[in-house]
Amino acid sequence: MIHRARLSYSGFIEVICGSMFSGKTEELLRRIRRAQIARQKVQLFKPVTDNRYSTQHVQSHDANRLPSLSVEKPKDLLKQIDDHTRVVGIDEAQFFDDSIVEVAQKLAARGIQVIVAGLDMDFKGRPFGPMPKLLAIAEDVTKLSAVCVICGNAASRTQRITGSKTDQITVGAKDFYEARCRACHDPGMETVAPSQENPVKLLRFALEWQPCTPKVFSKDLLSIQKDRSFP
Ligand code: ADP
Ligand code: MG
Ligand code: ZN
Repeated sequence: MIHRARLSYSGFIEVICGSMFSGKTEELLRRIRRAQIARQKVQLFKPVTDNRYSTQHVQSHDANRLPSLSVEKPKDLLKQIDDHTRVVGIDEAQFFDDSIVEVAQKLAARGIQVIVAGLDMDFKGRPFGPMPKLLAIAEDVTKLSAVCVICGNAASRTQRITGSKTDQITVGAKDFYEARCRACHDPGMETVAPSQENPVKLLRFALEWQPCTPKVFSKDLLSIQKDRSFP
């Protein structure tokens, strides 16, 4: 586990990965709060790309949050590190370019505990940005799962439910994505329909995205919805 060598001055890298809604941000915030309790100076960062809930906080889907700095490039993050900082948290690391790997290594070499959270896979199930390299160099890796909204099993994948079928980055939360297991994941978005219990959203989805008649399709969607118990 990760709780070794905390009081020594050798730095190390921890990675928290998993699908959307798997609790990566909650886990990052939990570790940062523990460091604060230990009176260690912490700094939290995220890429400017992630502007979903706040530009000045790292925030979970449950509105748990701590102040953070938004940076465009990993080298900007390096410039902002205070001399007394002992722990650096980085959320949504998949949006940074590969230079985040070197930055994490430099911070660890300075004796800092680096906690990186990010999506290991994109909506098509492909390794996302610098995450594979970060996973390779980390001392400790935690892979979390969400709950599949279709069948209730552990969800390792992120389903895009609306929008582009090709662009790797579309920033959004429950309006664009849901958690799914491997069996229920539809990477090509061929048969995908949102599972949220919101008839207005379902109807809008049917009107906007489906080739069949809206009336029939929205009725189908609502009957599918009745059989579902998640989320
Ligand atoms: P991540 O950073 O991995 O996207 P967060 O830490 O922001 O996730 O949010 C995790 C929270 O999301 C959970 O504690 C739970 O309340 C909520 N949640 C919503 N949908 C799901 C789901 N399908 N599976 C698990 N948690 C979910
Ligand atoms: Mg998150
Ligand atoms: Zn499933």
